[in-house]
Amino acid sequence: MHVPFFELRDFPEGIETAIQEKVAFTLAEKRFVLGPAVSAFEDEFARYQNVPHVVGVGNGYDALVLSLKALGVGKGDKVLLPGNTYIATINAVQQVGAMPVLVEPDPESYNLTASGIARAIDKDVKAILPVHLYGQACDMETIMGIANQVGLLVVEDCAQAHGAEVGGKKAGTFGQANAFSFYPTKNLGAYGDAGGVTTHSEQVADFLRKYRNYGQSERYYYDVVGVNSRLDSLQAAILSVKLAHLDALNTERQRLAKIYLQELQRVGDLVLPATQAGCGHVYHLFVVRTQRRYALQQYLQAKGITTLIHYPVPAHLQPSYAHLGLKAGDLPITEELANTSLSLPLFPGMTEQEQTAVVEAIRQFFA
Ligand SMILES: *Cc1c(COP(=O)(O)O)cnc(C)c1O
Repeated sequence: MHVPFFELRDFPEGIETAIQEKVAFTLAEKRFVLGPAVSAFEDEFARYQNVPHVVGVGNGYDALVLSLKALGVGKGDKVLLPGNTYIATINAVQQVGAMPVLVEPDPESYNLTASGIARAIDKDVKAILPVHLYGQACDMETIMGIANQVGLLVVEDCAQAHGAEVGGKKAGTFGQANAFSFYPTKNLGAYGDAGGVTTHSEQVADFLRKYRNYGQSERYYYDVVGVNSRLDSLQAAILSVKLAHLDALNTERQRLAKIYLQELQRVGDLVLPATQAGCGHVYHLFVVRTQRRYALQQYLQAKGITTLIHYPVPAHLQPSYAHLGLKAGDLPITEELANTSLSLPLFPGMTEQEQTAVVEAIRQFFA
């Protein structure tokens, strides 16, 4: 039996045909860059998120960089973010010339906490960058409360949490500008690179529409020095088809997660993902923890089951972040997560047989 970590399957059934038809239509339209397919997806995603503006960009990293730029975060500013996030979040802060301040996450939800944020705030901190890690929404009400009290900006990294809700609102509706990645494996994924920014601010949206297209206000007239980070029309067309099924895709992820949570209870020293009260989880990843992480991974691989590690080395221990001056032991929770985490296969369309094989192999390993 071979169980892939992730595979695009025809789920819900018929989605592949719908995508092929939409791609054929968009090809025939021949409006490949910022065409009608892009505006249509931006409008549809804005409606889904219940925000007035969505600006499509090239990828999730650009969505983060452009969000920070649009809010005026740059040189001399500190940005608070979780130490256990994906490298793109931290690189984006670095890219705008700001200083990333890595904050320890909550050891159970793996997300930023109010107390962690409060401890890290000083006069140079300009923004908080909460990451809805693995698909679990952060406690945004509390985070916004602190941010508003102290006058800090908020950019949500929603790359892993499309459709996750907290307090009846979607992740990506709280901050002043919020970044989404539509990388193929994400909960809402294109067939190539794609990203988007959500915002309530018309001013932020106007800036982003120019900035993503060299700063152009009208053809060959430039208000700011922008970049090229445009959402591709074919990707936007595919995203429109998939957006209509996003809730069904997430419900399927939640169903699969529930089975893992039931079947892997009290197995060996496994620590299963915990959901914080009031915070929704759309299970972009199903991450378990064990002190025997590498042995378990090898055991599963020998049985044809692929797992991944998100993420084996935290940013502060990577050569690229040596300049932060942090060493092993400085972020103990972040390091413990990096040393013990293992992500199990979970994707819409995964079969019962496949999931049973994963569960049984894990039980055998710990027996
Ligand atoms: C995927 C991801 C990104 C970057 O998205 P890309 O589209 O790959 O640039 C940023 N942050 C997090 C948390 C991610 O998972």
